[in-house]
Amino acid sequence: MAGNVTFTMIKPGAVKKNYVGAILKMINEAGFVIRAMKLTRMSGTQAASFYEVHQGKPFYDELVKFMSSGPIVAAILEKENAIADYRELIGATNPDNAAEGTVRKMFACSVTQNAVHGADSDENAKREADFFFSTFERFYD
Ligand code: UDP
Ligand code: MG
Repeated sequence: MAGNVTFTMIKPGAVKKNYVGAILKMINEAGFVIRAMKLTRMSGTQAASFYEVHQGKPFYDELVKFMSSGPIVAAILEKENAIADYRELIGATNPDNAAEGTVRKMFACSVTQNAVHGADSDENAKREADFFFSTFERFYD
């Protein structure tokens, strides 16, 4: 089922502002099925590791600091064409460029505090899901 599973996080800013329910509603209404989910918090070391692909970029330190600043909601989502459809639902990385009606347009504060993470490939979705969830925390029909 290539492309049918993605990984997301609702980032600390959106959790703090109580947007979790509204964002999950959009996720469900767009046809995604939640296969795993938890409210948790990354340490600085964990956030640095999660985002290691961005190490050395100008925004890396700020991103790691922000992503470890409070709780996040991590989830594994399933839907046909999940990776691409989820990125369409959340919108562009910079909310200024995000289309109307997308999660980031509605709930992001800035390019760093952009409400949600979405995996960008099957390989990364697997890596990111494995980062947060054991097999006992995943529920399939
Ligand atoms: N980011 C940032 N400044 C930038 C680009 C990215 O702060 O100029 C942050 C932003 O929170 C983004 C994350 O780094 O979600 C990962 O960047 P990526 O390019 O992978 O964007 P995404 O896949 O999240 O849209
Ligand atoms: Mg990315």
